[in-house]
Amino acid sequence: MLNDPRSHGLWEKTAPLPPPAPRLAEYVSADVVIVGGGYTGLSAALHLAEAGVDVRLLEAAEIGFGGAGRNVGLINAGMWVMPDDFPKELGPVYGEKLLDLLGGAPYLVRELIEKHGIACELEKNGTLHCAVGPAGMKELEERARQWQKRGAPVTLLDSVETERRIGTRAYAGSLLDMRAGTLQPLAYARGLAHAAVKAGAKLHTGSAVISAGEASGRKVVTTAEGEVSADWVIVATDAYSTGPWETVRREQVHLPYFNLATVPLGDNLRRSILPNREGCWDTKEILSSFRMDQAGRLVFGSVGALRGTGTAIHKAWARRSLRRIFPQLGEVEFEAEWYGKIGMTDNALPRFHKFGKNVIGFSGYNGRGIAPGTAFGRLLARHVLGEVPETDLPLPPTEPKEPGLRALKEAYYEAGAQIAHFAGERF
Ligand SMILES: Cc1cc2nc3c(=O)[nH]c(=O)nc-3n(C[C@H](O)[C@H](O)[C@H](O)COP(=O)(O)OP(=O)(O)OC[C@H]3O[C@@H](n4cnc5c(N)ncnc54)[C@H](O)[C@@H]3O)c2cc1C
Repeated sequence: MLNDPRSHGLWEKTAPLPPPAPRLAEYVSADVVIVGGGYTGLSAALHLAEAGVDVRLLEAAEIGFGGAGRNVGLINAGMWVMPDDFPKELGPVYGEKLLDLLGGAPYLVRELIEKHGIACELEKNGTLHCAVGPAGMKELEERARQWQKRGAPVTLLDSVETERRIGTRAYAGSLLDMRAGTLQPLAYARGLAHAAVKAGAKLHTGSAVISAGEASGRKVVTTAEGEVSADWVIVATDAYSTGPWETVRREQVHLPYFNLATVPLGDNLRRSILPNREGCWDTKEILSSFRMDQAGRLVFGSVGALRGTGTAIHKAWARRSLRRIFPQLGEVEFEAEWYGKIGMTDNALPRFHKFGKNVIGFSGYNGRGIAPGTAFGRLLARHVLGEVPETDLPLPPTEPKEPGLRALKEAYYEAGAQIAHFAGERF
């Protein structure tokens, strides 16, 4: 995308084309203008258009340019935060409401994919959170207990069953979450865009919003060549936010995360490694993730940016790790490599922002945005339609607040990942 093979890597190679979305080059009026063409913005656009609302979506670059086109493709239920910590952090009412929304969000993703016939390599066989050592297993036991008491379909697997499913003895066990699964993330974003256009939404790419204000009682957002006036503005710019809502980006600490995709594996390897295609990640602090795509490529990722010295260090580490986790792989050949930035909030929970009357947005999904972005996008649409009052939203409105030493923390994450991977951290 934008001629950078390290921005969207494999996903750009294998995703179907997006719908035409011409640059905004006119002055127009709409009921709602949405800023940002990722999951949050596209889901909001789709649900508003389906309700007959006149909606314009403005995307600075291309559909899925932000996290939506670069991620691992794990459709998660919930966040990193333990379920019992939600009510502790947000109070019992918001806490349980948010857990409900996040727990059910993967089902919404499946429903939309099926309803709109989105070709995005959806796999519904769950995810495996993999325990590294006894400490990892202890964490998963607690996570399983907390989800199970809420009736979630999660099962703790021992090392034997984990080995059978993944094809490695590297893990002490794993937590199978049957709500979750995998998809091709850019194909999903582009599919949502097609569905939104079909429902009547008007999409514009190459149309960065550079200013926002009000005129004659209406909201006005301006791009280099055009302008939209509307009754509502939905801000769905998250970690890649530029322009008037830079504060959304500055509220987060960005964690770089890279992925490498092997060439398609042969039949024997595909029978031994993830034959059911669960999506996986582990319990380490500098975590690793892996999953199969539909063609049998193993997509392996971890914390780090593929730039400067990072490129060689992380790739060499990934080869070593893959050899240790999956000795049966032998020498691996990578066919694509890419990285992006994950927006982390200080309490690892998302945010609801009201930037002014009728200017609203959700953000800060902490590397868990496929299902939450889709669900929050629909919620924004329902709020605008008057179906969900502000008091029923699962988060209180908060002001974007820049964390102390943000730039330093980001530099530390990038350099720290290089040091850990160079020093030969075990997996
Ligand atoms: C490497 C990586 C791995 C990840 N892995 C996973 C995973 O496995 N599972 C998971 O659930 N989540 C994962 N995530 C997180 C997930 O991708 C994000 O949470 C999700 O994309 C957020 O969706 P969004 O629509 O809110 O924002 P985005 O997808 O980031 O979209 C925001 C869009 O807004 C646009 N924009 C910004 N400013 C402007 C402006 N001024 N005018 C117009 N447009 C603007 C951007 O160009 C961008 O396209 C990962 C993220 C990364 C980077």
